[in-house]
Amino acid sequence: MKKMRMTQVAYIEDIGPHMRRIVLRGDDLNDFPAGEESAHFKAIFPSPGQNKPKLGIYTGFKQWMRSYTVRAFNNQTKELTVDFAVNDHEGLATNWAKNAQLGDYLGVAGPGEAKYTNYHADWHLIMADLTALPAAAAILEKLPATAVGTAFLQVPTVKDKLIIAAPSGVEVQWLINDNLNKNALLEGLENLTWRGGNPAIFVAGETGQTKAIKNQLKTKLGYISKETYISGYWKA
Ligand SMILES: Cc1cc2nc3c(=O)[nH]c(=O)nc-3n(C[C@H](O)[C@H](O)[C@H](O)COP(=O)(O)OP(=O)(O)OC[C@H]3O[C@@H](n4cnc5c(N)ncnc54)[C@H](O)[C@@H]3O)c2cc1C
Repeated sequence: MKKMRMTQVAYIEDIGPHMRRIVLRGDDLNDFPAGEESAHFKAIFPSPGQNKPKLGIYTGFKQWMRSYTVRAFNNQTKELTVDFAVNDHEGLATNWAKNAQLGDYLGVAGPGEAKYTNYHADWHLIMADLTALPAAAAILEKLPATAVGTAFLQVPTVKDKLIIAAPSGVEVQWLINDNLNKNALLEGLENLTWRGGNPAIFVAGETGQTKAIKNQLKTKLGYISKETYISGYWKA
């Protein structure tokens, strides 16, 4: 288990109707590694009735953890930015984010390794739902100016679209869909004019949907398994 750090909420902003940005601060972040945007970490939440999460390894500790993404880390101010999808579902993490107040405590374990590493692939294919939008945005911002490719970003409403500084050669297609029975990302892929060469691919979203996307991707010319990261970020 990676080092666990105690942090406190320093800033809260609703960057869209279904996305709450929370900036975390704390002396424990002084040695948090820089440049790990898009990598995940484990957020450690307080158990009911507690105001501070219990850090450390003890029986049942994992029930208080959820995976989140390093959206940004400011190495000067040592501030960690995390974007929480907030929608109708109830859950430990989402409820915490919805009710967060300045000064609230959150534990941070990690980060893990960034999964998207080939920024110089022939082309890039990025596919994400709301929960993976922080990772997709961080990846798009890290791509070199010469990068080409396509990003399919699924959000529930038009108002959830964000401004993302993607290279001009990477087409960002927003897919507006709040119906879980419709795999809009897969439909986007089916309509995509596939490019030549070998793409680097990042796909993350609901588990059933990402599995269907994986099956489709495996049939594509130029698909290389080790250049592809496909992950179920949550399960309906
Ligand atoms: C590597 C990784 C990185 C991630 N990064 C982020 C991130 O930066 N931001 C982010 O918002 N999420 C992110 N997620 C997804 C997040 O971990 C899950 O959505 C998590 O389950 C939310 O926890 P919870 O306590 O709210 O709900 P849980 O207690 O885990 O689940 C309760 C119920 O809610 C449902 N549920 C869970 N998540 C959703 C959802 N998003 N929409 C609808 N129903 C849901 C479940 O099916 C379950 O029925 C990431 C996941 C992974 C694996």
